[in-house]
Amino acid sequence: MGKDNSSRIIGNIESISNTNSLLCPICEESFQDLGNLNTHLDVSHDLLESEHGQKHKSTSNQTLRTRSSSKPDNPRQTAPSNRKTRPPKAGFTLRREHWEKLIPHKSKCQQCMRILTQKTGSINCRRCGKLYCASHCKYAARLNQQANYDAIDGEWCKCCQKCFMNKPGYKDFGLYEDKTDIFMKLRSSNSQDHQLQELQLESRFIRIINGIVNIHRRYGNSILSTIRISSEISRLEKSIVPWKDDNMAHSCPLCSKHFSVMLRKHHCRLCGSIVCDDQISACSNEVPISTLANAASDLPLEDLRLDVYPIETQMRLCSKCMRSMFKKRKFLKELHLPLPLLLRKYESLHNTSKVILSVLPTFEDTLRSVRETKENPNEKDIMELTKLRKKLLEAFAIYDRITKQIMQLKTNTYAEAKIQQSINALSANFIQEKMLPLKSIPDILSSNFSSRNSSPESKTSSELMINNLTITEVKQYRTQLMVLKEQLFLVQEMADTATKQRKFDEASTLNNNIAEIQAQIDDLTMKLGEQGFN
Ligand SMILES: [Zn+2]
Ligand SMILES: [Zn+2]
Ligand SMILES: [Zn+2]
Ligand SMILES: [Zn+2]
Ligand SMILES: [Zn+2]
Repeated sequence: MGKDNSSRIIGNIESISNTNSLLCPICEESFQDLGNLNTHLDVSHDLLESEHGQKHKSTSNQTLRTRSSSKPDNPRQTAPSNRKTRPPKAGFTLRREHWEKLIPHKSKCQQCMRILTQKTGSINCRRCGKLYCASHCKYAARLNQQANYDAIDGEWCKCCQKCFMNKPGYKDFGLYEDKTDIFMKLRSSNSQDHQLQELQLESRFIRIINGIVNIHRRYGNSILSTIRISSEISRLEKSIVPWKDDNMAHSCPLCSKHFSVMLRKHHCRLCGSIVCDDQISACSNEVPISTLANAASDLPLEDLRLDVYPIETQMRLCSKCMRSMFKKRKFLKELHLPLPLLLRKYESLHNTSKVILSVLPTFEDTLRSVRETKENPNEKDIMELTKLRKKLLEAFAIYDRITKQIMQLKTNTYAEAKIQQSINALSANFIQEKMLPLKSIPDILSSNFSSRNSSPESKTSSELMINNLTITEVKQYRTQLMVLKEQLFLVQEMADTATKQRKFDEASTLNNNIAEIQAQIDDLTMKLGEQGFN
């Protein structure tokens, strides 16, 4: 059916070409017959997908024939739709001497190394001339007629990935421009401003504190002198820091609240700005100068401890000045303090989990190899497995113990309580998840044990498998544990009654007993490891 159709079209074309000369749809050159036009298209415009696939050639020619014949007077639109690049200029003939010749069953695609066949297609990179399969020559670069890169006057030609990426100015990830220096300069100029402000605040701070101390020393500690001292201090403060005018301030610059009878104006003694003393926004606070001097002990301040009587003068600072003066100092001080107990405990918990995580993969590998050789397990593997299992169980016991210690810590803040809860949840998760492979061991052992009951070495290995304890020992420890737990219950009841009856001496003795029993229980639980969980 298709063949009939195409032959009819060709016949149709022939009838047209008898009367009209044919125009090239790309450069509008005129031709006497279709054969010449097709040769022109192939040679001058490189319209073929595949130079060597004969079948391909004929079909693409056919498409051209039908199209050029159906709309001969509108040549621009007749270019094949699969062409993405615009039509090349008239008279553009690309050099072909450098093209690699196709040797059937031998030539390979330079990228995927497949032997080039009709199925893979074969195409020469217009730039380097090497042969590629149809799917590895899909790039385009502008080349001149000598097949050299020419980004301005060149024509778009097919090329390989290598030639595409080698073209001058090629950027793999778009444009890259280094702005680091500009940002560094901006940042350092900003932080220099900041440092200057800090220095100014510091020098004011030193002068005020030392001035206050000297005033106190001059007037001494008497009821009469207190009035003079406060007026002297106020004069000193105003001489060092220019205070802003009260009448100009209508609202607090930090929290934007309007000043009123309830919300009074206060001067920050370091920057002189007028701020509120709202308790919630804490825009300003009065702080004893001894506290301030302590917090800034690195500054050259008079030693307040030398004074006979404590100087109780307070100094008002806005939250902004407080931050720029003391935030960094506080941070640096805390850096050298030991971590809070909660965090130290967490650190050891974390280290224990690291040990477990480092041993676990080896353990799982050994377990797998023992499982795979279920019929005849390697004695060395079993020994290794036992050793690793013991190590892991010990680590888990430590992990569990640290978690319990963390849970027993008293928390002072909401944040600490939150951290404590999170650690508890994390730890429970960790134990549940990571102990899973350990739980599957005993059944491997017991199946191994029952099948090879007669051989003595398998018996020892199976006895070893239960946390390095013999079965008799496990039984013995379990009985002891039961007895101890019963004892604990009874003694606890006795202690409770004693407390209720206010016999505190008796209660404290009983509580000591409880602690002892608990220690024994813990010891046994440790020894039993996983066997104690039943
Ligand atoms: Zn042409
Ligand atoms: Zn290829
Ligand atoms: Zn190439
Ligand atoms: Zn305020
Ligand atoms: Zn201030």
